[in-house]
Parts: sequence; structure tokens; C-alpha cells
Amino acid sequence: MRKKIVAGNWKMNLDLDEGLKLAGAIDKYFAEKPAEKGQVIICTPFIHLAGAAGILKHGKIALGAQNCASEASGAYTGEISPWMIKSTGAQYVIIGHSERRSYYNEDDKILNKKTLLAINTGLKVIFCIGEVLNERESGNHFIVVRRQLEEGLFPLTEEQMDSIVIAYEPVWAIGTGLTASPEQAQEMHKYIRELLKGKYGNECAKKMPILYGGSCKPSNAAEIFSQPDVDGGLIGGAALKKEDFTAIVETL
Ligand code: PEP
Repeated sequence: MRKKIVAGNWKMNLDLDEGLKLAGAIDKYFAEKPAEKGQVIICTPFIHLAGAAGILKHGKIALGAQNCASEASGAYTGEISPWMIKSTGAQYVIIGHSERRSYYNEDDKILNKKTLLAINTGLKVIFCIGEVLNERESGNHFIVVRRQLEEGLFPLTEEQMDSIVIAYEPVWAIGTGLTASPEQAQEMHKYIRELLKGKYGNECAKKMPILYGGSCKPSNAAEIFSQPDVDGGLIGGAALKKEDFTAIVETL
């Protein structure tokens, strides 16, 4: 059985006080639950990480950052490296989010470099891929996703792939209220798993968690997560409200 995961991406929202309150509320909610349905992760802004690590006391919620530097240390003003992230107590980092790709021009090559550095530091990577609207409309979505995987991830060894969670996030569905249909999500997730099988073999393909991201909410999560190749979700807007986020986790 593959691990089910729901990861919240807080993006650039919530000040320190608001963020720690939300982390505490999520921790308390799951502390009171008898069984875990899957792994829950919250990916906060950098400034929340150390405080949140101290607040997530019950060991049921993992913590992640949303980006990292491509260098380990040195004169890189304003950057935060994977080992700094790890030193806060975080275990995960999101790499390749479409907002990083488009607003900060992060290409497959730099994303691969960040991924290798993060893994070698001992972090797990939630690696995001997905096509923009005109790529889907022109029928090029499979080609785009394949390129993002081949150039961003496939330089990794099979062993290194154990530290990866893939998030398929069609860019046209992120923060837009538009969601891929369960069939569209399943079709792409199946394709991603086939590519993994071709490159790394059946075992790697079968155990890789592939999350869906793009306007997931309590009302649509169950149907999307019930698809055979969808192993949970990466949640943006709905991760900022304890009630919505926990309701999405409950659909696993
Ligand atoms: C995201 O930012 O990864 C995301 C999926 O956002 P939203 O859920 O708001 O579409």
C-alpha cells in the first residue's frame, strides 16, 4: 500500500502569530484522533518553521518549507539552504512549485540541483510538475510533464527517489477555482507512474506517492483522492483554514 499524504502549502500568508496558532490548532485536532489516515504535512513560510516544529508536539504532523537555495552555504544574501531548513526540525521541502517556476524563472536544471542538495541534506522533497493552460489546450500536457520529470527528477538514482513525493499540479487549476476532473487527474497520474516504471522499474513506480494539487477543497477532495493513482493532495488556499484542511485530510 502506498502512503497517502495531504500537504498544506501556506504560500506567503499568515504572520508569525497567526501561523503558529494555525499549526497548534492542526496539531491539536490530529492529536485527538485515534488513527492516522495518512501523512499530514504543513509547508509554512521559513519564519514559522522553528516555532512550528516546537508546537507540533504530538508527532502526527510533519513540517516542510516551500523552497530552498541551490547552494549549501556562503555568500548568497537572502537565501535559505536545505541544512538550515533541516536544523529547524522540518523534514520536507517543496521544490518546483509553478509559482517558483514562473515568477522566479526556476528551470528544470536548477530544480534538479536544489532537489539533489535537499535530498543529500536528508530532507524529503515534494517535487511539483504540471502544465499551463495553453499547453493543455494544445494537447502538449503529456510532453511538458514528461520533460519536467526527465530533466528535473530522472537524473536521480533509484535510491534517491525514495526521498521524493511527486505533486501533479496543473497550473491552470492552482488558485483559480478550476479543478482537474478526477478523470484528468487519474490520466496524468497514471502516465507519471508509467514514466517512473520505464525509468526506475515497477517497484519504484508502485511505491511513489503522487499527489494532486489545484483548487482542492473539502467538496471535491474525496472524488479526486479516490482515483487509483492519486495518493492525496497538495493544498494551497484551503490549507489556511483548520476546518477546510482537516476536512480534506478526513477524505483520505
Ligand atoms: C498550490 O499552491 O500548490 C495549490 C494547489 O494551490 P490551491 O489549492 O490554492 O489551488
